Amino acid sequence: MGQALLVVDMLTDFLEPGGRLFCGEAARTIIPRVAELVKAARLAGEPVIFIADSHLPGDAEFAMFPPHCIQETPGAGVVEELRPQAGERIIAKRRFSGFYGTDLDLTLRELGVEELVLTGVCTNICILYTAADARMRMYRVTVPRDAVASFDRAAHDWALRQLETVLGAAVT
Ligand code: ZN
Repeated sequence: MGQALLVVDMLTDFLEPGGRLFCGEAARTIIPRVAELVKAARLAGEPVIFIADSHLPGDAEFAMFPPHCIQETPGAGVVEELRPQAGERIIAKRRFSGFYGTDLDLTLRELGVEELVLTGVCTNICILYTAADARMRMYRVTVPRDAVASFDRAAHDWALRQLETVLGAAVT
């Protein structure tokens, strides 16, 4: 049984103070911890998969949020500290879940992955809904609490409880 590390939305528009949808200082504080987990996964030979918000200009999601992570703009890139290595997959998504309209499930199956470690932002949005879709597909899910963050602390705490008590994720 294989494990993969998913790095969700650690992108310039969310992580840099001048980004189009900055998630706040809480998001910046997890960068070193996510970097440690990425390094450990690489050393262990486990796949590191980057999930990246990637919108078309005028995407329907912009009815809810300011425009962000427009395809082929610098804001849609992974932050410098977590730069993907050659050969690592970057899976573009247009909705909250990394599974929706993407080939993440197929990719994980091809890799023989049954267990996911979810890191990144935001705990109550893309982490939660990616975890929900993962659990619907019966992947085991672990969420290290020091490697996820949100602009909304109360929603972050609520989402961690939801992940643990409703979705059956291991929150460590
Ligand atoms: Zn988005």
